[in-house]
Amino acid sequence: GLSERLQSVMQKLRGKGKVTENDVKEAMREVRLALLEADVNFKVVKQFVSRVRERAVGQEVLKSLTPGQQVIKVVDEELTRLMGGEQSELVQAKRPPTIVMMVGLQGAGKTTTTGKLANHLLKQNHRPLLAAADVYRPAAIRQLQVLGEQLKVPVFSLGENADPVQIAKQALVQVNDEDCDYLLVDTAGRLHIDESMMDELKRMKEVIQPDEILLVVDAMTGQDAVNVAENFNRELGLTGVVLTKLDGDTRGGAALSVKAVTDCPIKFVGMGEKMDALEPFYPKRMSSRILGMGDVLTLIDRAKEAIDEEKAKELERKMRSQSFTFDDFLEQLEQVRSMGPLEDMLSMLPGVGKMKGLKNLQIDEKQLGRVEAIIRSMTPAEKQKPEIINASRRKRIALGSGVGVPEVNRLLKQFDDMKKMMKKFSSMTKGGKKKKKGF
Ligand code: GDP
Ligand code: MG
Repeated sequence: GLSERLQSVMQKLRGKGKVTENDVKEAMREVRLALLEADVNFKVVKQFVSRVRERAVGQEVLKSLTPGQQVIKVVDEELTRLMGGEQSELVQAKRPPTIVMMVGLQGAGKTTTTGKLANHLLKQNHRPLLAAADVYRPAAIRQLQVLGEQLKVPVFSLGENADPVQIAKQALVQVNDEDCDYLLVDTAGRLHIDESMMDELKRMKEVIQPDEILLVVDAMTGQDAVNVAENFNRELGLTGVVLTKLDGDTRGGAALSVKAVTDCPIKFVGMGEKMDALEPFYPKRMSSRILGMGDVLTLIDRAKEAIDEEKAKELERKMRSQSFTFDDFLEQLEQVRSMGPLEDMLSMLPGVGKMKGLKNLQIDEKQLGRVEAIIRSMTPAEKQKPEIINASRRKRIALGSGVGVPEVNRLLKQFDDMKKMMKKFSSMTKGGKKKKKGF
C-alpha cells in the first residue's frame, strides 16, 4: 500500500548522512509513483511532488546535519498541507439549532454516518434530532429509527409518501418542540448523480438553509469519490466531506485528493460500521500515520475516552488494598476492548505499523473474548472470592463458557499470579521512601 511504499522511501533517506540533489530526485520519483498508484489525482501528485522537490533541494535542507530527516519533515508538512493543514470542526450555529444536511450517493454511508455523528454530538452534550428524508430506498426510514433507538436520540419522519423537502421543513419545527440543538437530515442518494436528486437537494437547501452540508463519500471508490465531491460541490456548495470505510482495503488516494481538488475539508473519517467508528480528521496525524511516524495523539485520545479517570483511581486503590476481584478484572478488560481492536492500536504506535511480526504477536480478540466468557460464567461469589473455585466449579465454568478446564485453570493461575505481583508491588511502594537506598 501507499503507506508501506512511502515508508520505505523515507527509510532510505533517514539513514543517509549526506543527501544529494540526485537522492532527492530519486526519492521524489518513487513518491510520485506511490501516490499515483494509490489513486491520488494526477494533478495533485504533480503539484505536490514539485513543491516538495523545490523545498527539499534548498540549501538549508541538504546542508543540514540531518538532511534525510529534513526531507522527511518537508514531505510530512506538505502532506499535511495537502489534506487541509488544520483540523476542520463541525460547524456550530451562533444560535441553535445547527442544521446539517447529509448528502451523497447510495451506499456511501449517509445513514450510518448520521447515526455516528449523533453519537459524536451526544458525547459533547448536544441534543441532536435526526430527520428521515430518504423516502426512496426501502427501509431507509426504519434504518434510521433503529439507530435512533440504539442511541436514544429522537427521529423525525413522515413516512414514505411524504415529500423530502417537507420532512426537512417540519423537522425544523420539531427541533424546537423536542428542545434539540442540532438537526441532522439524512437524505436519499442514487447510484449515480442525477438531476432530479440534485434538484431535490437544492430545494431542501433553499428551504432549511443548512449551516453545514456534509458530503459522505466512500473512500474505497478512490478517484471516483473525488469526482463525486467535485460534482456535489459545484451543484450544492459543500461545507465538508466525511470519508467512510477508511477501515477497509482502500488505497488512500481520496483522503489525499479531496481537499486539493474541491477545496472542501474532510471533517470526519469513518473507520467501521459501529456507531463509535467515526473520528475527526486531523491532517497532521493522518500524514504521520501514512509516513509511519505513528499516531500517538489519536491513541491518547482514544484512551482518554475509554478510561474513566475515577474508575482508574478506584482500581489503583483496590490493587493496593488487594481487594481486586474478577469483577474489577472484567471491567478493566472492557475498558481496554472499548478502545478498539488491539492490532489497530498497536499499528498507531511509531515503528510498529510496519512491523512484520505484528500478526505473530497473537494478542487476538478471540482470546480476550474467551477470557471474558470464562469470567462471565462465574457466580458473583466466585468472582469476589476466586479461592472458592474448586474442581467441580471449574468444570461448571468451563461448560458454561465453552472452553476446556485447562483454560479455566490457566486464567485462575494468571489471576492469582497477578494478585501476588500486586501485593509485592504495593508493599514495595508503601514503604518505598524508607527502603530507598542511596548510592
Ligand atoms: P447510505 O445509502 O449512504 O445511507 O449508506 P448506509 O449508511 O446505509 O451504509 C451502507 C453500508 O456501508 C452499510 O452496510 C454500512 O454499515 C457500511 N458503512 C458505512 N460506513 C462505514 C465505514 O466507515 N466502514 C465500514 N466498514 N462500513 C461502513
Ligand atoms: Mg441511507
